[in-house]
Amino acid sequence: MKLDEILSQNNVTLSFEVFPPKATANYEAVKAAAYAVAERRPSYMSVTYGAGGTTRGNTLEIAKGIQENYGVTTIAHLTCAGATKESIQQALTELKDAGIENVLALRGDRPKDFEGDPFTDYHYASELAADIKAFGGMCIGGACYPEGHVESENTHQDILNLKRKVEAGCAYLTTQMFFDNNIFYNFLCRVREAGIDVPVIPGIMPITKPVQLRNAVKLSGCNVPMRFRSIVDCFGRNPEAMQQAGIIYATDQIIDLIANGVKHVHVYSMNNAEVVKGIQENLCTMIGYQIHPQNVKSIFTKFSQALS
Ligand code: FAD
Repeated sequence: MKLDEILSQNNVTLSFEVFPPKATANYEAVKAAAYAVAERRPSYMSVTYGAGGTTRGNTLEIAKGIQENYGVTTIAHLTCAGATKESIQQALTELKDAGIENVLALRGDRPKDFEGDPFTDYHYASELAADIKAFGGMCIGGACYPEGHVESENTHQDILNLKRKVEAGCAYLTTQMFFDNNIFYNFLCRVREAGIDVPVIPGIMPITKPVQLRNAVKLSGCNVPMRFRSIVDCFGRNPEAMQQAGIIYATDQIIDLIANGVKHVHVYSMNNAEVVKGIQENLCTMIGYQIHPQNVKSIFTKFSQALS
């Protein structure tokens, strides 16, 4: 099913991101972990793409396997850094032949060990989105950054660039992780003010190990509230306690989002089915809940309709 159809239904959706095995990794173990997430039958799943196409075949296989074996709609991520027009056409043909109808169009970062300029055929994700649109038959999504993309001059320019990406064909946007929901609400206001009216799906990362938080901050420069820092300081050395605290913190973020009118939440599950189970169970009566504007009484009520 195309994602815009899923998003247009009036239910709360809870979806999960998994990553495919790298060429050198243990393929069967990573595949089994991704499939264990699919067994939880989430609203839909996304499968990441290794920088420079390093996981291309595996992204395709895992996305196809999830759809065929579990009936869960998947989004295949696709990056264009280091890609050529021809290689993108080939990747799209393979996705189409595998029955994948949803693609997250990404620029990606400079692939490690890439010789030369990786941005010759493509400079930005908007160019990839335009090519996918011309290819046809795909629901296209894009990435967005509530705290600004690390390379952007300022958040205003970043949002103007985001608008170009939507105009090029993105039917929805998924955010980079954030740990303070006010950052998302503030971003959403600015996105709507800029005239971007597609669904903006918050991406929530349950932190189950201190190293994940360090990597998240290093990669995206995201803000970590004192409240969450204290949790990691306190429980970080106890893996079970940290996992439990991470699931609860993420659940708390999601409940606040739903209470403020957000209908769709994407969770960076890191192939951890225990995390998926914990969050699903915490939210079981809220998943499938139909949001009507009159049910939302918070200060963000006025944005609740614009959110979806
Ligand atoms: P773009 O939208 O092209 O933006 C990149 C930068 O260029 C931004 O600073 C933007 O403001 C600027 N820009 C855009 N258009 C213009 C323009 N016309 N003129 C000037 N500047 C412009 N990476 C992977 O390798 N694999 C994945 O599977 C993956 N999945 C992701 C999923 C999500 C939800 C997110 C948020 C990120 C993901 N990433 C992934 C990381 C992503 O590839 C990097 O953050 C990358 O640096 C930017 O990709 P983008 O698609 O957002 O780029």
